[in-house]
Amino acid sequence: MKITRMTVFHVDLPLEHPYWLSGGRLKFEVLDATLVKIETDAGLTGWGEGTPWGHTYVPAHGPGIRAGIETMAPFIMGLDPRRVLDVERAMDMALPGHLYAKSPIDMACWDIAGQATGLPIADLMGGGSRAPRPIASSVGAKTVNETRGVIDRYRKRGYIAHSVKIGGDIDRDIARIRDVESIRNPGEIVLYDVNRGWTRQQALRVMSSVEDLNVMFEQPCETLDDIAAIAGKHASPVSIDESLVTLQDAARIARDGLAEVFGIKLNRVGGLTKAARMRDIALAHGIDMFVMATGGSVLADTEALHLAATIPDANCLAVWACQDMLTVDIAGGRGPRNRDGHLHLPETPGLGVHPDEDALGHPVAVYS
Ligand code: MG
Repeated sequence: MKITRMTVFHVDLPLEHPYWLSGGRLKFEVLDATLVKIETDAGLTGWGEGTPWGHTYVPAHGPGIRAGIETMAPFIMGLDPRRVLDVERAMDMALPGHLYAKSPIDMACWDIAGQATGLPIADLMGGGSRAPRPIASSVGAKTVNETRGVIDRYRKRGYIAHSVKIGGDIDRDIARIRDVESIRNPGEIVLYDVNRGWTRQQALRVMSSVEDLNVMFEQPCETLDDIAAIAGKHASPVSIDESLVTLQDAARIARDGLAEVFGIKLNRVGGLTKAARMRDIALAHGIDMFVMATGGSVLADTEALHLAATIPDANCLAVWACQDMLTVDIAGGRGPRNRDGHLHLPETPGLGVHPDEDALGHPVAVYS
């Protein structure tokens, strides 16, 4: 089987509500999505998506994905998409780094490989759990009352897991943490996501101030060096997200005991092929996982769900689904959707959901 054509679409995905990271530091209103259709000489078609969270969240941006695909396309054409490692190496040779540009191609290749074998991607990766995965909400709010309002909105949709964005003014952060903990339901999973917003000193001040609550913080500071510098000076469990980009990052975090949880975002780490290695490092070191695409449509959510299904149930805390935050649906209601705050793995071979091509507009590039 050979890749014969790649068609690239650019779609804007507006957010239903303006979204704030780090307690109001960064605002987002629309996501720039790149959809990639890969066709083969065997008649199979795979779809991939790359949707960074704007271009201020991490070093990844929508136009960069499309430029990266233009650079990599000549090296991918003619390869067998079922041989995902061959495609991965071709992309890494053609364009070192720029992992976020590679994930949509990797995803489309896994989609084709699944269809070719008659297996959902998770089963093709070795076996997917059918236990529904709880969806973590994303509580981008600034004040105590706004935070309560957003959590309430998600609870009404069945959500039992919440990622509460903090990392702004530390006194307000402490007040919001204490308030959320006071209304937390039994069994609810709550993660306080700092999104790199604190200095080392600010992180230690908040962590010591709420030590009695034993809550988990995600990405409390900018870099792994910062997180390493405060490790041992606080008692809070830590999840690492933005600083988990390469396999070397995963190895360092695990070896040095810098986190109890990996926040694996498939777009940031370069797709399913690379993320599966991080999963294995995590499992070998007793580290649990949150799994997300980064942002995007139901296609991106489904990609994340497949990886999450390959993680033992006890080690997969939650997935994150962006679909409930968008005002457009490029797949007409198909694919895994929120059912009582959970996503269920599709049994369809491959990814399990394709977009309505008519909803994507004209292609911005075609490579053949
Ligand atoms: Mg995070």
